[in-house]
Amino acid sequence: MNCIFCKIIAGEIPANLLLNTEDVVAFPDLNPQAPTHILIVPKIHVENAAELAEMQPNALAELFKAAKKLAIELNLPGYRTVFNTGEAAGQSVFHAHLHLLGGRALGWPPG
Ligand code: AMP
Repeated sequence: MNCIFCKIIAGEIPANLLLNTEDVVAFPDLNPQAPTHILIVPKIHVENAAELAEMQPNALAELFKAAKKLAIELNLPGYRTVFNTGEAAGQSVFHAHLHLLGGRALGWPPG
């Protein structure tokens, strides 16, 4: 399967793994949108968050637990977690991933 995140999980493409558990990995986004921008990715290949909820709900919870752990480690006073679902919402990699953003004031509504 030609999936960039599956290749990172398999160790075929290098990434700075900040977290590597049974179900989840986390690494910095290549094109950061904030001083902290980490992708938290389930090891199972599913297209989006809704599919992950159906296929492996425990891993979905693990993504949010990982976000909390990383935010504490990085001393973030607050942070934003985002799933983009579908091209119209900006999804470009079709392997589910949670964006963790922080380290600056984050405006609302998002763009
Ligand atoms: P999305 O647009 O929500 O699908 O998010 C995909 C994210 O993956 C984008 O923010 C990209 O910058 C990021 N990305 C793509 N390839 C890599 C890579 N090899 N390592 C780290 N981040 C990546």
